[in-house]
Amino acid sequence: MRYDVIVVGAGPAGSTTARECASHGLSVLMLDKAEFPRDKPCGGGVTIRAANLLPFDLTSVTERTAKGLHFSFRQGNGFNRTSEHDLVYLTQRLKLDQLLVEKAVESGASLRERCFIRSVERQPTRVVVRANGCAFEGSVLVGADGANGVTARLSGLKVRLAQGIAMEGNITPRGRFPSEWENVVGLDIGCTPGGYGWLFPKSDHINIGMGAWRHFGPSLKESLGRLVRYYGFEPADIWGLRGHHMPVRLPGSALMDGNILLVGDAAGLLDPFTGEGIHSAIWSGQAAARAISAYIASKSDNLEEYRTDVEEGLGLDLKVSRQYQDLFHLTPRFYMWVAKNTSVLWGLTCRLMRGDQTYCGVMKNHRKLETAVELISDLVRVTPFLQRRSGMKEPGPPQRFFLSGAHHRQRRQ
Ligand SMILES: Cc1cc2nc3c(=O)[nH]c(=O)nc-3n(C[C@H](O)[C@H](O)[C@H](O)COP(=O)(O)OP(=O)(O)OC[C@H]3O[C@@H](n4cnc5c(N)ncnc54)[C@H](O)[C@@H]3O)c2cc1C
Repeated sequence: MRYDVIVVGAGPAGSTTARECASHGLSVLMLDKAEFPRDKPCGGGVTIRAANLLPFDLTSVTERTAKGLHFSFRQGNGFNRTSEHDLVYLTQRLKLDQLLVEKAVESGASLRERCFIRSVERQPTRVVVRANGCAFEGSVLVGADGANGVTARLSGLKVRLAQGIAMEGNITPRGRFPSEWENVVGLDIGCTPGGYGWLFPKSDHINIGMGAWRHFGPSLKESLGRLVRYYGFEPADIWGLRGHHMPVRLPGSALMDGNILLVGDAAGLLDPFTGEGIHSAIWSGQAAARAISAYIASKSDNLEEYRTDVEEGLGLDLKVSRQYQDLFHLTPRFYMWVAKNTSVLWGLTCRLMRGDQTYCGVMKNHRKLETAVELISDLVRVTPFLQRRSGMKEPGPPQRFFLSGAHHRQRRQ
């Protein structure tokens, strides 16, 4: 059977693409190597800005809602900050992804599980995907198969990613659930270069994890053990410990080619500064669905709208996020001081988490800050001394020189 769209991977990016395409009346097939409900290494924190992208609410899969953050620096004395608004929904991916897949299927998309794609054959107006001995034909193929996906490689798309790494596990508290974590998320800053430690409360357990530059992978388990102790638990009580790549797109990395698009982690659209990927997965899935719907309805003769949308929207924000990441890891102690002693950073954090402001928006409002941030970020990327200070080993290219004139003009409007 021939479909308008074949989506490989039914995580948040794939199920969003599938749901939105199907609700535009397109025939959609989702293929996933797993069987749902399936789990995935993830903190399961869905920021309000991510949840607000969806046309349905997440109440049925939200185990707790955080309005507050407990900040600490290298597992020292911490402090709490509270917002009057919700900031993040704490979910489990097992349940969240099941809901997102159900919504796609309700909208008319078909799902084939335990289907690992083996090959992609490209033709100008169709794509043939082979999986489990079957051939599936589509007008458009969407690679939504995550950080370790194969669609890009099988399709010949040149994806260039900087890989961070994260590890997480769960603790079921003995006795009553600790009241201090009922609606508060813990963030430990400066404990690992390139990332941070977190504590996310769920209904009956607590998720504790840590992200870092990739080369810290071998020592991450030991660092996580220290973080677990800091939060008052025993490393021996951790269950479900697992690690995973955090793929961050490098300048020039492929987003699409002809009738093949990449969304979510498969395109490396994770937010480098925070490690938040569910927002980008949903955002890019929606952008892909818009471009595909226009293409299938012959309102457009190609899918370039997707590239433009990502590069001029989400992509610019992710570039700024990477610059913030460069600055932050140079002097994390300074940011902690600002967060503790002023309300500027907290107000900004809340607005970013709720989607009331974007990283680019902050830069547009403060042009001098924009220049300073770009300059310092580029300096970090070319100066070995600053890289050592940030714990960075694979700096990747400085970014401003890779922005085309069009992007610069757009940012300055
Ligand atoms: C430890 C950790 C903690 C994180 N915590 C958070 C957090 O709290 N909040 C947040 O926003 N982000 C978090 N992230 C990032 C987030 O998990 C990802 O960015 C997000 O899952 C990306 O969604 P996706 O749909 O692109 O990919 P995925 O969710 O990875 O889905 C990909 C799907 O493709 C399928 N697949 C893979 N290969 C194939 C194949 N060959 N054939 C068929 N199917 C295939 C998989 O089975 C899977 O279902 C975290 C990441 C890690 C590693």
